[in-house]
Amino acid sequence: MSASFKGKVALVTGSTSGIGLAIARAYAAEGAVICINGFGDAAAIEKERSGIEKDFGVKAIYSGADMSKGDQTQAMVTDAIKQLGAVDILVNNAGIQFVSPVEELPPEKWEQILAINLSSAFYASRAAIPGMKAKKWGRIINTASAHALIASPFKSAYVAAKHGIAGFTKTVALETATFGITANAICPGYVWTPLVEKQIPDTMAARGLTREQVINDVLLHAQPTKQFVTVDEVAALAVYLASDMARSITGAIISIDGGWTAA
Ligand code: NAD
Repeated sequence: MSASFKGKVALVTGSTSGIGLAIARAYAAEGAVICINGFGDAAAIEKERSGIEKDFGVKAIYSGADMSKGDQTQAMVTDAIKQLGAVDILVNNAGIQFVSPVEELPPEKWEQILAINLSSAFYASRAAIPGMKAKKWGRIINTASAHALIASPFKSAYVAAKHGIAGFTKTVALETATFGITANAICPGYVWTPLVEKQIPDTMAARGLTREQVINDVLLHAQPTKQFVTVDEVAALAVYLASDMARSITGAIISIDGGWTAA
């Protein structure tokens, strides 16, 4: 399968790290102009941005917009359209996790997870869809999770947000179906990224386990393949969903989870 995105602009939220960075680089490899977004060390982010330009010969810009703020999220999309001419492919990927029993989950963490993992997809999509409709072509890809389909204890806000993004994805797909736009959700199982690494200490505390027990008995326990999904595997799926060959796939909630949700 080859997918050329020459002449297309892709904006990937939460792409200074992990899955988002792999998706941004995979689109750049296919010729797309890129807008990356996310937090982190300024020099490291600049290295990623210029690395995309150097490695793939495409223009890449960076937005430091905070995806927990609706106004900043919308402004990021309108600025990208101003600077790059369009946002043809929007990947709503930014996300955070917090591991805690419901009754101990700080309300501000609940609000933050809902804002970043769910509401940001609404704000970015509402800013991008008019341009996509005008061009009669667009791709909206939401990074959901196996937790869009099933739950795990101690992740109530995350599971609620991810189930929410599945419903949002289907609704956007129905509203945009006759405009050459598709909207789909990718549902990875455990992918080895900083997001997973960071929840190990809290899971150790919440469940009274060692690091090895968390990796083998909690994380990989759920995945029949007993292997982490890789960021490149997720990026390859995102490339396919953005290609013209995938134009009939819309409103789909697609698992890439080593068989986790088959169980
Ligand atoms: P990561 O921590 O490596 O990357 C998260 C990205 O989001 C970073 O670029 C970070 O800077 C950015 N971000 C966080 N808060 C932000 C904010 N307020 N505004 C803008 N950017 C912000 O994590 P990852 O594992 O690559 O996660 C990416 C997505 O994949 C998330 O939506 C996550 O829920 C989802 N996911 C991850 C896994 C996994 O196992 N790693 C599994 C299923 C789904």
